[in-house]
Amino acid sequence: MIVVMQTGSTQEQIESVLERLAEYDLRGHMVYGAERTVIGVVGAAIPPTLKEELEHFTGVKETLRITQPYKLVSRELRPMDTIVDVRGIKVGGERCVVIAGPCSVESEEQIMATARAVREAGASMLRGGAFKPRSSPYTFRGLGELGLKLLAQARDETGLPIVTEVMTINDVDLVARYADVLQIGARNMQNYQLLEEVGRTGMPVLLKRGLSATIEEWLLSAEYVTAQGNPNVILCERGIRTFETATRNTMDLNAVALAKRRTHLPVIADPSHGTGKWYLVPPLALASIAAGADGIIIEAHPDPDRARSDGGQSLSLENFAKLMPQVAAVAAALGKHV
Ligand code: PEP
Ligand code: MN
Repeated sequence: MIVVMQTGSTQEQIESVLERLAEYDLRGHMVYGAERTVIGVVGAAIPPTLKEELEHFTGVKETLRITQPYKLVSRELRPMDTIVDVRGIKVGGERCVVIAGPCSVESEEQIMATARAVREAGASMLRGGAFKPRSSPYTFRGLGELGLKLLAQARDETGLPIVTEVMTINDVDLVARYADVLQIGARNMQNYQLLEEVGRTGMPVLLKRGLSATIEEWLLSAEYVTAQGNPNVILCERGIRTFETATRNTMDLNAVALAKRRTHLPVIADPSHGTGKWYLVPPLALASIAAGADGIIIEAHPDPDRARSDGGQSLSLENFAKLMPQVAAVAAALGKHV
């Protein structure tokens, strides 16, 4: 439920609504917009009489039910876009952010060469996994803390903020010490304790959609993070499992457009995991932006044929540089800039 306050309502009037909510073990989440102040009501059980009760309070204009099961992330609560600030880079506004880098951090030479090249080509952030969720336990699973140190070194030199995955609650403190954005991977989208833990850091969180998650489940996972008082969630569509085997996943651009409509959170797209093939990455990157994505995250590697993970879907640094002017052109057609 949302409580819409009258324009010019006082702090005292807001407080009395919040106090009444507390009596019912409910929490009020304030949203101050340019046009209206609303209180989002969240909690397990909203009494059926509450709606009418609150409408009698002075300063309250009306109360409305939020029809979706997710509340804080829903556009019904907050019509204007949320902008997530990552070291001054605003995700969700007029900018089309481009996050690029290898699937895994492999060595100093590899990450530094990639960081310099993607920066030169116009990327706004650097990605790279230090802790890798791999389908097989016998494949490369990341350099761990050394990988985080190398990412920090790349940030020091290039100024690019870093996006990297955290896989377990135990590693949240460690990864948070180095990262600018905490990535929650597709396989962990429904690890609710991990979602709450990254929520408590208050840091920007990149929440990938699960391999077989519905859009509603994905947005409910975002709700877990925001319910901890952390509004800084960036959603990421990364392809879903379908009957199709010709590509690694099916890049669901419906989800990009629909998520933009259902929530106020920024939505970006990952055509690397979405397609699994490097030569499909440029067309799907452009299509994602055309579908309304606030940015893209792309795997790029100095020598994709020798990458220790996801080489087949990684762009060479040359191909990444070739893609960037096209990204800028599509973004410009939508009134955005890279
Ligand atoms: C990745 O970004 O390298 C990754 C493992 O992504 P996902 O969780 O989407 O599979
Ligand atoms: Mn990968």
